[in-house]
Amino acid sequence: MRFGDVVGQQETKQGLIRMWEHNQLPHAILITGAEGTGGLPLGLALAQYIMCEHRTETDSCGVCANCTKITRLEHADLHLSFPSTKWKERHPTVSRNYIREFREFVKQTPYGTVYEWLQFIEAENKQGNLSADECNEILERLNLKTYEGGSKVLVMWRPEYLGKEGNKLLKMIEEPPANTFLIFVAEQPEDILATIRSRTQTIKLPPLKTNDIADALIRRSGTDTLQAARVAALAMGSYNRALEYNHSTENDLFEDVRKLFNGLYKNNGVDLTSLSEDWSKKGREQQKFALLYVVHLLENALRHTYLGNQPVNLPQVEADFVSKLVAMHIEAESIAAMVDTITNTIYYIERNAHQKTQMLAMMIRLHYIVQRKEIPV
Ligand SMILES: [Zn+2]
Repeated sequence: MRFGDVVGQQETKQGLIRMWEHNQLPHAILITGAEGTGGLPLGLALAQYIMCEHRTETDSCGVCANCTKITRLEHADLHLSFPSTKWKERHPTVSRNYIREFREFVKQTPYGTVYEWLQFIEAENKQGNLSADECNEILERLNLKTYEGGSKVLVMWRPEYLGKEGNKLLKMIEEPPANTFLIFVAEQPEDILATIRSRTQTIKLPPLKTNDIADALIRRSGTDTLQAARVAALAMGSYNRALEYNHSTENDLFEDVRKLFNGLYKNNGVDLTSLSEDWSKKGREQQKFALLYVVHLLENALRHTYLGNQPVNLPQVEADFVSKLVAMHIEAESIAAMVDTITNTIYYIERNAHQKTQMLAMMIRLHYIVQRKEIPV
């Protein structure tokens, strides 16, 4: 993994490279960032940068022997540690048992979550952890001489999964062997042992920029510009979420939204019922995405109303639609009530509520709001 393979996070990448060039890269680093911001890819790119034989001032070379091995996650001096479960009875629970699966997982879904990882190794009903055996193995391996003469790097994904056993690593974190770097990648730093947190230097990843997400979707998935802009706007800084939404919306959502508003404002109950049935047949992520998309357009209409003629940062077809909504002089209270209603529906759908009932109930409430009727309680 090169820095160039990591979506966005330009400032952080440059900061890390600067530290490296000034010999100031800490030996124990804690990268923290919410799901989908790229902690693991960045940790791996940093490991590759440290070990590359021909690094430049912007990235690792990607082709030297070290880069080639690290790209495949097969370098003997790169130690990967991640939550896992018992492999076989009487075998220690160590990451090494699942290294082949982990290589494949990172190749397929570098932005994947621990939940997805545990599903990947068919252990989703078990608690993943980083065991005492795993800590012993890390100590043993990092204390060995390097295999290939350069640096040794540990990338530990999600140190939140270390229990008290993690304290075994403290001495190593404080005084790592020569040319050894420890990179921890976390999402919830408050769940990491305080003893580890205080001995590492934290690098916080901000949510990804909308433009960076859209660019990555266009370049890597061949997504068209309009769809990429839509998906990126709703992904809340997470590339993982963007991929999920992108995957779940092949049809043109905008047509559905047009149908929704036509149904609401032209009092067309048949359209609304058929739309609610169509939507409740979709997968949960897809439903969520459709609803978030409507909220996004409504919020833009609200903003447009309050900020006067300021341009709306939307693809043209949607900007036109929002302008039409604004021209209808819908009261701000109505828009806010619609946003509330849809947001509540998302909440219930996320919690596995009966989707058909939820969708229909939502349509009825929206209809009441638009037609300015009292909502029956
Ligand atoms: Zn290289």
